[in-house]
Amino acid sequence: MYPQRVADPTALEGRDFIGLIDVNSFYVSAERVFDPKLRDRPVVVLSNNDGCCVALSREAKALGIPMGEPWFKLAASAERLNLVAKSSNYELYGQMSDRFISVLQDCAPEVAQYSIDEAFVKVRGTMSELLSWAKMVKDRLWKHLGLPVCVGIGRTKVLAKLSNRAAKKLDHLGGVCVWESVPERHREQLLSTLPSMRCGGSPAAWPSGSTQWASRRSNSSGMLTR
Ligand SMILES: [Mg+2]
Repeated sequence: MYPQRVADPTALEGRDFIGLIDVNSFYVSAERVFDPKLRDRPVVVLSNNDGCCVALSREAKALGIPMGEPWFKLAASAERLNLVAKSSNYELYGQMSDRFISVLQDCAPEVAQYSIDEAFVKVRGTMSELLSWAKMVKDRLWKHLGLPVCVGIGRTKVLAKLSNRAAKKLDHLGGVCVWESVPERHREQLLSTLPSMRCGGSPAAWPSGSTQWASRRSNSSGMLTR
């Protein structure tokens, strides 16, 4: 447990950061947008031909169901577990992904999509501005699309990814985390998870022409972004 603060917030004034926005259990969350009955219960999304689990809700993970579990092993106990399985619908996920990016583009001038449900953005501001911006993005994606996300912010893509991981794992953070607010002892713990993470560090992931500061204010948050 740790608060979202640093010893000297002014030390972050005007510094450049990268934010990573990642939709929680994306396929399941996309299904829930159009079927509210799926909320607050264990849900799995199945691969082509309903072979195995390719996405699990938090409730399904809590049941101990592993990613990739064949559905035939779960089907018999589904009713007892209140478990719902959905066939995958990649057209739907693609459309939700487009909307996700579109909302992000209203929140930051530079957005680099990293995967179907993840995007990096460049942000700038004090600690309190960064946290306000992160909460604004999270709230907006929930309000406009019904998608739950976590927002991690750090000075590099890797640190943004680690912050996102912290935001996802630690409920008291409310789904947002800035790396500089994480105490040293917890940073070590998070860094030890690196080998199991996917994270692109290539500058080529940024859209062309994105290397220059645009130095303008976001309409919605008042925080300097780029
Ligand atoms: Mg995700």
